[in-house]
Amino acid sequence: MKQKETLSNIRLNGDKIEFSDSMIDEMGDSHIMTTVETPMRADAFLKSDEEKIAIIQEHFKAIMETMGLDLTDDSLKGTPKRVAKMYIQEIFNGLNPANKPMVALFDNKYQYNEMLVEKNISFYSNCEHHFVPIIGKAHVAYISSGKVIGLSKLNRLVEYYAKRPQVQERLTMQIAKELQSALETEDVAILIDAKHLCVASRGVEDDTSSTITAFYGGKFKQEATKNEFLKYLDFNTTF
Ligand SMILES: [Zn+2]
Repeated sequence: MKQKETLSNIRLNGDKIEFSDSMIDEMGDSHIMTTVETPMRADAFLKSDEEKIAIIQEHFKAIMETMGLDLTDDSLKGTPKRVAKMYIQEIFNGLNPANKPMVALFDNKYQYNEMLVEKNISFYSNCEHHFVPIIGKAHVAYISSGKVIGLSKLNRLVEYYAKRPQVQERLTMQIAKELQSALETEDVAILIDAKHLCVASRGVEDDTSSTITAFYGGKFKQEATKNEFLKYLDFNTTF
């Protein structure tokens, strides 16, 4: 039986809290994040992408062999390299700030002062606790402070932050903070509705639930503005 956690199990190391192994297991299964910034090592970008791919390839090969798979089989032979390339070049390439999309600001020449909503931005991410997919839609809105950005940049920013090991709350906050700084306004709202395969395909194996997270900044904290945004998304505001 799992031992119950008590405060005495938690150790303080300087001002850093150290959790016991069983508590860390519990946090991961409950999908609790520790910081808004993705926790990165100081040496995160000292190696080239090619060096990282070579290292991950060896480690993934060891995982497959440990599970008993025969890597001399033609179908399995190429998998370690394929997975390593996919991690670095595709599904986790948003870890590298060099891949962050350039966001050019334009003057709001039309003097359009209402909210702009870009809805149903589909994205694929991966849960940082289980490394299985999170599949979702992001709905993003802002009210121009006098500057606008190209619409496709909203999709690109969602995609950039999605392509990291993630938790949905952090993804929501990271996109919101980025848009606030890029658009030079607090008036930004985000709603994300996503399905987590770690909930659907394992654990409680619930295939029908989805998770909603939201961020409302500046004018979107006002009830009328928030409701206008939610109305555009056809969300019932009483939930
Ligand atoms: Zn998970």
